[in-house]
Amino acid sequence: MMKLTPQFAVLPQPSLENVAALASAGYQSLICNRYDGEDADQPSADRVAQVARAAGMTFVHIPIASPDISPADAHAMAAALARCPQPIAAYCRSGARSKALYDAAQNMGGHKQYDIVIVGGGSGGISCAAGLLKRRRDISIAIIEPSDDHFYQPGWTLVGAGVFTPEHTRRRTQDLIPNGADWIQQHVRAFHPDQKSVSLEDGTRIQYRALVVAAGIKLDWDAIDGLNAALGDHGVTSNYRFDLAPYTRQLARGLKQGTALFSQPPMPIKCAGAPQKAMYLSCHHWEEEGRLGNISVEFHNAGAVLFGVADYVPALEQYIQRYGIDVQFTSKLVAVDGPAKTAVFAQTRGDDVQHVERKFDMLHAVPPQVAPEFIAQSVLADASGFVAVDPATLAHPMWGDIFALGDVAATSNAKTAAAVRKQVPVVAENVLAMLAGHAPVAHYDGYGSCPLTVERGKIVLAEFGYGGKLLPSFPKFLLDGQRATRRAWFLKDRLLPPIYWHGMLKGREWLAKPQKADLGS
Ligand code: FAD
Repeated sequence: MMKLTPQFAVLPQPSLENVAALASAGYQSLICNRYDGEDADQPSADRVAQVARAAGMTFVHIPIASPDISPADAHAMAAALARCPQPIAAYCRSGARSKALYDAAQNMGGHKQYDIVIVGGGSGGISCAAGLLKRRRDISIAIIEPSDDHFYQPGWTLVGAGVFTPEHTRRRTQDLIPNGADWIQQHVRAFHPDQKSVSLEDGTRIQYRALVVAAGIKLDWDAIDGLNAALGDHGVTSNYRFDLAPYTRQLARGLKQGTALFSQPPMPIKCAGAPQKAMYLSCHHWEEEGRLGNISVEFHNAGAVLFGVADYVPALEQYIQRYGIDVQFTSKLVAVDGPAKTAVFAQTRGDDVQHVERKFDMLHAVPPQVAPEFIAQSVLADASGFVAVDPATLAHPMWGDIFALGDVAATSNAKTAAAVRKQVPVVAENVLAMLAGHAPVAHYDGYGSCPLTVERGKIVLAEFGYGGKLLPSFPKFLLDGQRATRRAWFLKDRLLPPIYWHGMLKGREWLAKPQKADLGS
């Protein structure tokens, strides 16, 4: 017997006793690459299948006659390798044909195969790969991620306030890919869940036994007329872009008097508090400089409430009062004219929608956010366009070998890196359970967190799960999330960045132990 990988071995024709012994040794699948009757004393494929199945193994028959492998044979073998529980043993008379067929399947027209394919190498994708490899070193993992750079996006609020430098939030993707995972630097174009494969922009197909989709959310800048052209100039900025966050700082420092507008689009968006965070930190700067009285600040919120979880609203309202902010609810930014420095808001008042034009000296705009197109157009999406998943197990309801996490999942939690931190161990446990032929074992409770930077040095730390249930990480005497505290600022400013780079992305799952599923339900 020759082990080609920890998960695949070839061997000469086994006796029926040896088939049972293979099962006892842990092999979960057996592939026969011989025709019946090649040798007089050879047990038939049907007989071997009977014994293998009785011992709990999956049996597949892909007979080939010569060492010249046809593309159809290679395809069949690749499909079997993708489908069968591992470890897998394959046999022919000597093992040579099985080995040749295995090699052909691996090299077939650029079709590669992995135990686990992860789509997206952002917060969720890298952390999940690291978490899986921490649990099992012997699995093959590919991360498909087009970008050279990886960003710590939660840091952009503090870049916009001049607390972090932009470089503090950026690393090279290649430096973050965990040892043991392959990085495929391409875009995924389409999913083929029935063939257990994804196709890339160059036409290559990548096969998987388990798929994790972590492709994030799309910032739809073009949905606001004129915004794209105005950004970075004319006083129009957004902390939602790495290159623009420093411009927020520049504008806030430069503004001596006039009108500052801050917009918030309809939900869902990533970090629902981030549009307000930019506003509070700017106001605090103007207050410190004694200029706040000369600046008229408006918050145009497409939603109807200041924050989705009512328990945090009183603390935020105190700051709205303190900074004298004019809050306009159900007021949605629809157009920007940079050179004219005007913004148009569609304001819903009862049954009426009025278009209101506002002049500005500074505009912090946040675009509407939607599922990436290749996700929304795929069979994996639900009606919202995001990947359909069970909210607890994060497994797709139709394909049990597909999971999603992070912003791309159609779950109702706050779309945050904090949510990703808690989702990763759940997905890692459930993927490995699935590969071993078991039902999901871990549950996600909807945890997400939003550190609302209400002033430089103080944060209202919102932490909540599904249904707005408060899920504080610390006892109230240590850190009361419903008040602005210096401890929460210390957490965001000093602790969370290293926790992200050296904890989450390295598979260290601090304070993120998943709940075990109630297997009876
Ligand atoms: P991402 O980290 O965005 O990664 C998605 C990846 O998918 C990207 O690398 C992308 O290149 C890749 N991708 C896209 N299309 C394809 C394709 N076709 N094929 C392959 N790969 C593809 N969270 C907090 O917890 N706390 C905060 O304070 C906080 N503040 C924030 C402030 C701002 C301004 C912003 C923008 C975000 C903030 N967040 C915060 C949210 C947090 O950054 C995200 O929720 C988190 O990064 C989501 O991780 P993800 O892996 O789902 O998506």
